[in-house]
Parts: sequence; C-alpha cells; structure tokens
Amino acid sequence: MADDAPAAIPARMLPTLTEHNRAFWTGGGDGHLLIPWCPQCRLWVLPPGAGCPDCGGVLDARPVSGRGTVFTYTVNHQPFVPTVPVPYVIAIVQLDEQSDLRIAANIVGCEPDSVSIGLPVEVRFERHDVDDDAVFVPVFTPRSA
Ligand SMILES: [Zn+2]
Repeated sequence: MADDAPAAIPARMLPTLTEHNRAFWTGGGDGHLLIPWCPQCRLWVLPPGAGCPDCGGVLDARPVSGRGTVFTYTVNHQPFVPTVPVPYVIAIVQLDEQSDLRIAANIVGCEPDSVSIGLPVEVRFERHDVDDDAVFVPVFTPRSA
C-alpha cells in the first residue's frame, strides 16, 4: 500500500490483497462472504492463509451464510482515524458455520450502546478502492429476525 495514499482511503483499515486473501476481500462484490475451506478436513480457516493448518492442503474459498453472533466487542472512543467518527464498535463475530470461526469487524447500523455479547448479526459489505482493486470490507449489522 502506498505511503502517500491516506487521503484517498477512507474509514477502515484496508488489506493488501494476496493470492490467498483475495477471495475474502473481494467476494462482497457478489454479496458473498468467502471463507477459505479445506475439503479434506471439512474445516473453515481464518485468517486466510496459504494452506490448511491441519493437513496443509489447498484451501478453496466458499461462501458462508454471513450470519453470526457477537463473541466479544469493544467500543472505540479514540479518533485513531480522522475520517471515522467515534464512537464505533469493533467486534469479534462468531460465524454460524463453525464454533471457532471468528472474524474481526466493525458493527454498524446501530447505536454502540445497543451492542452486546451474543447479539445476532449479519454481514454487509463496504466497498473501498485500493490501488486498482475494489475491496469489499465485511462489516456486521444487527439481524432483524
Ligand atoms: Zn485440511
């Protein structure tokens, strides 16, 4: 990522795309949260890496439901990034697919005070442009149902 780019990069911490994490960060363009999956172990793997941590096998990104619950969270009041209004919620979301499948993400679309552990949430995507790529950052919002 270029050092002179902050003016063009709003809001979130944005990733550098690699062959291993590209599906994760771009799947939101089609509305899918794509998580690396090991077909041998039948295991979802986060964060995206080179291979399965159990068998070393090749991972295949597959869509998950995008539904989960808040595992833990913190409300940030420090304006670390000038373009992001505080307070905002940074959470670890436990995805429904697997008991240890957790993703760090912002919780949006609600008052920070309304977030609690166990809150049912679902994924949304925020589009950001990084160099020549469109990156779709997963964020979560409370589930209505
Ligand atoms: Zn495996």
